[in-house]
Parts: sequence; C-alpha cells; structure tokens
Amino acid sequence: MQHAMYRLIISNGKVVTPSGSNIADVAIAGERIAGIFPPRSLVECQAERRIDATGMIVMPGGIDPHVHMYWPIGHSSGSERPRSQGTDHVGRAALHGGTTTLIDFARVTATDSIETCIRARDADFSNKCPCDYAYHLMMHSDPSQRTLDELAEAIRAGYPTVKMFTTNILPQWSGAKIDTGDLWEIFQVLAKAGGLGVVHAEDDELVMHMTAKLMAQGQGHFKHLAQVHSRLSEDLSFRQVLRLAENVPGTALYMMHVSASTGVQAVREAQARSLPVYAETLPQYLRFTADDYLRPDGQIYHTYPSLKSQQDQDALWDGVADGTIQTLATDDICCSLQQKTAGAQIVDTVGGFSGVEPRIAVMYTEAVVRRGISLERFVDLVATDAARIMGLYPRKGVLLPGSDADIVILDPNRRGTLARQDLYQAQYSPWEGHEIHAWPIVTVLRGAVVMERGELFIPAAGGRYLHRSIPEHIRAGRR
Ligand SMILES: [Zn+2]
Repeated sequence: MQHAMYRLIISNGKVVTPSGSNIADVAIAGERIAGIFPPRSLVECQAERRIDATGMIVMPGGIDPHVHMYWPIGHSSGSERPRSQGTDHVGRAALHGGTTTLIDFARVTATDSIETCIRARDADFSNKCPCDYAYHLMMHSDPSQRTLDELAEAIRAGYPTVKMFTTNILPQWSGAKIDTGDLWEIFQVLAKAGGLGVVHAEDDELVMHMTAKLMAQGQGHFKHLAQVHSRLSEDLSFRQVLRLAENVPGTALYMMHVSASTGVQAVREAQARSLPVYAETLPQYLRFTADDYLRPDGQIYHTYPSLKSQQDQDALWDGVADGTIQTLATDDICCSLQQKTAGAQIVDTVGGFSGVEPRIAVMYTEAVVRRGISLERFVDLVATDAARIMGLYPRKGVLLPGSDADIVILDPNRRGTLARQDLYQAQYSPWEGHEIHAWPIVTVLRGAVVMERGELFIPAAGGRYLHRSIPEHIRAGRR
C-alpha cells in the first residue's frame, strides 16, 4: 500500500458506506475505488491529486432513476411537439448537483424493432450526455407478439426495465395506456426473461371521467389537477396492477412517482404479502401540496400524476421512514418557464419537473436535517437503492473497493437560501428560495473530477451506457 500510486485521494471526510459513516480516506485508482482507509494512513502514498474533505460528507454520486431528457413536451398529440433540454444540458446540471447516473427512457414504437428504437435513442446520448446513463424501455399500447418476443431479448441483452402506463394521462393523448390483457402478457415476459416492470399507475377511466366532468363544469383550471389525478385513482390502479402481478409469479415491479397515501398503503400491503414490489416518490411530492398550484407560476410545482394533500405528503414521509418507499427520483423535464407555464388547464398543463440538479441538496435538508433520517438511509434513497433495484449495484451507488469512483463531496456548512445563480439550470427553479443545509462542492465520475465548486470539467469521452441485469434476490423481493 505504501508504494501505491493513486489517481485521487479524498482525505478526512465523513465517508458514507453500507456499514456506516466514518472519517476516512478514499483512494481512487483509474476509474474505480481502490479502497477506503483510516484517516492519515495514506500520507506516504503517491497520488496525482489529493482533496482535503475535512468537515465534509463523502458519499456515492447520486442516481436519478426517472428523468426525461430531449423529450416531447406540451399538450398536443402531434409528432412535431417541441422537446425538452437535451442530455448535454441536463447531464451537466446533474453533475453540478452531485448526480452521476441518470436513467431515462427509450420509446418502443409499433413500427420499428426494439433494437432500432434503442439505437435511435442512443443518438440523443452518445458523445452528448456527460453522466453515465441507461434507459427504461417504454412500451406502447397493444404490443404485437413480435414486440413481446423482442422485449424478452432486450431484457436479456441488458435492457431489463420496462415502463408501462395504465393511463393516457390526457384525453388527447393515445398510445400510452396498456390494457389489462397486455399488462398480463408483458408481466409474463418480465417473469420469464428476468425483467422489472416500472409502472405509472392511474385509473384511466376515472382520470378521463374527472377531466371531462370538470371541463364541462368550467372547473378546468390546473389548480384542480388533484381531483383528476386523485388519491382514489392511485388506489384503484395500484391495487389492480399489484393484484395482476401477484397472479403472474415471478413478476417484480417498481411503482413510479407514488403521490398519495393510497399508493403508499397499496405498496406496503403488497410488500407484506412478500410481493417483489418497490416504490419511488419525488422530492416535489414530499415538499409541495396541491395548495402550491395557487402560487405564481404554480404549474412549475406540477408533475403528473399531481401534487396532493398534506395528509398524502405525510403518508409519503411515513413510507420513506418505514422503508416502503426506496427511491427519490425527479421525473425531470427541463424546459423554459414559458413552456412550463404555457398550459393552465387540466387538459394542457405541462408535466415533468425541473429538479435533477438540486435533488441531493434539497433531500439532505428535508430528510436528514428536518426529519432526522440517518445519513446512510439518505444515501440509500438518493443513490444506493436505485442501484440495487435497477441492476447497477455494486458498480454504482456505493463506495466499496472495486466500485466505479462516482463520488460527491457535500459541504454541510454551506447553508442558505437556494438562488437561481446557484444552479446550472438557471432559468427557473421550483426550489428557488428553498432553505438548503448542504451543497455539493465536488463531483467525481469514474475517477475524474467533473465538478469543483461550481465549475464543470467534462471529459471529452462523456458518459457511458450502463447495461444492466436485475439480480435474482431483487426479483424475489429479498432486499
Ligand atoms: Zn416520467
């Protein structure tokens, strides 16, 4: 050890690992973590660079398992819809905020092979996205037998997570909702090929009924979104989807953006029945309620399904605290304030949330500082559990010898109110004015310092696609 030559040593920080948080030195060789050592034990070693992390938190780079980059936005249904910001911009924002891995989506179409769809999506990422990345395969309505066969192949080839919607969300949209019969068929493919279903579950009939009813009553303002994308809708759909999964042994599911107490309870009960089901919620659902729709530019707080009541928010925090909910994602869609606020009705409000960048700082403040959640559990929520569930562990999401050296150094002394100038995505932020009790000061991606005190150093090689497979114990629900 005394003669080792390291690329980077991060010394004397509070290092968060699965076995606890201790003052330690992290040594990096090449792209990987070489080891974690007691403080000062590496003083004799040679290193290309040393960073003194005294007083800082040293944790794995964040993983956001639910983002949409260069994604069609707006409420129209045409193919010429404008797109959100690309992977170059959003990827830089993620690194700026301490997130090193993003999982986005590749849309499977009815006309092209899944292979062709994946290659088409690659064009948006390769040599552009500075973070490491992967895709969930987003299924469309009425998949053909050919698509189902290709899906099994894709799962085995390193694309194991499959997105399904149980609603079209807006009346003018079509092609997203997967009927019960097709869900049943896809679940059988997941069970057989070793995949994980990632689900946006809302009761489509109730959503469409309430949309039509409120519009007819002249109550179409977006402040009523929680009546359309309701707690009851989440209750009905979650229970239907989970019951269906229970009837196809071997189906493992990840419920995206849980937003209501009913969703938390449905997941909790399914987990108690030993169903392999995992759950995600979003920082915005943990901090804002439907009352925030009434603030100026209230659309900026909205993500589909919708913000709900204080009671729902409390239930989400209970779910985070008791382990029902494993991950905090953002459903990020980065667009201009003008695009985000263009629609003001329940039928045209733009979804997605500008939040990938401050996610770690905001959730450290909300979870660790305000609610006393442990540092280890916080790291699970923003990095490790996403890696475990999505088939990236222990390559990503953890500081262990041999893991990719994806690291964020968080300064817990940098407290204040989040201002637009603090952010790379500076045009607007729903978190502007929010009190922050920590801020990332260094981000390391595979051994390279890519952000230091706000300045980005993006390697020319950029990010890499992460092929994955879901471990058997995750698919069996043994966490
Ligand atoms: Zn989404």
